[in-house]
Amino acid sequence: MNAVKREEIFRRLKALNPAPATELVYRTPFELLVAVVLSAQATDKSVNLATRGLFAVANTPQALLALGEERIADYIKSIGLFRTKAKNIMAACRLLIERHAGEVPRAREALEALPGVGRKTANVILNTAFGEPTIAVDTHIFRVSNRTGLAPGKTVDEVERKLLKFVPEHYRKDAHHWLILHGRYTCKARKPDCPACAIRDLCEYRSKTEPTVD
Ligand code: SF4
Repeated sequence: MNAVKREEIFRRLKALNPAPATELVYRTPFELLVAVVLSAQATDKSVNLATRGLFAVANTPQALLALGEERIADYIKSIGLFRTKAKNIMAACRLLIERHAGEVPRAREALEALPGVGRKTANVILNTAFGEPTIAVDTHIFRVSNRTGLAPGKTVDEVERKLLKFVPEHYRKDAHHWLILHGRYTCKARKPDCPACAIRDLCEYRSKTEPTVD
């Protein structure tokens, strides 16, 4: 895909949604960190339902540690892998207090040292909590990047590398959210909504869907 097309794709995505944001509900970097850890293999909607109750009683590392693993698990039990996630959250809280005075660090290495936090989660925190131009490649972004030809790659690392290279700099900070939302609501996994897609004429996917005829 050439640079003119890439520029036009993001110009249109921006025109549709000038200030894209995560659908996870959070008020502080720490709340976002917990929400993103919980969101692995879970929908944002289910995470928001669980964190509404949890954050009302505890929304700092100190408060979650005091609440304890069993009670955290109880608040998040509607989410997949909740026992492992409760354990990781407890361990992450301990490290945040020991190493970072209870604050979420603004550094990739320190974030990735936290239990339950991998490269993707660190990218989300750096981008969404701290405004850094990182791009976390999740299943939606991986699919959209490959289908459109924007940043094709066999692995998430390859796609991330290409996106960081090819997304025009002035769009890089918000690219993560535009691509996720595009994948979640338009370029859907099983049946992309190509007839209604704002970037249809720029997309290089060979199997675009056609309008249904009654
Ligand atoms: S045209 Fe279809 S495949 Fe291409 S980005 Fe739009 S929805 Fe996805």
